[in-house]
Amino acid sequence: MVDTVSPARRSEIMSRIRGKGTKPELLVRSVAHRLGFRFRLHQKKLPGSPDLVFPGRKTALFVHGCFWHRHQGCRHCYVPKSNILFWREKFKKNVLRDQRARTGLEEMGWRVSVIWECETADSNRLRKKLKRLLG
Ligand SMILES: [Zn+2]
Repeated sequence: MVDTVSPARRSEIMSRIRGKGTKPELLVRSVAHRLGFRFRLHQKKLPGSPDLVFPGRKTALFVHGCFWHRHQGCRHCYVPKSNILFWREKFKKNVLRDQRARTGLEEMGWRVSVIWECETADSNRLRKKLKRLLG
């Protein structure tokens, strides 16, 4: 994939992706809600402020974009062709931050799970995964 996005557009994309309530996250919320699970959003007091927190099951869920959070083996996990060093550094930081959040949560006794953006495309699969994680 060729990196042809202007810096302004790039920063717009980045802010949208980093912002809360992205589309994959909304999909996960709606499926979890329909399954009857009770959850809270963005618990700032917890490491990494997980996207969904299921207090009853002591499970924290992150909904991760495959590109930003480096979903290994996924087709969305590519490296743009320009500014390669910038991207490598950026990805490294994101992955480290995710690892730190996971470790911090696990040390507090939380179960931590990740739903990848690409897993939200198929709502049946998503429902099965959530049931497995939380059921
Ligand atoms: Zn993926």
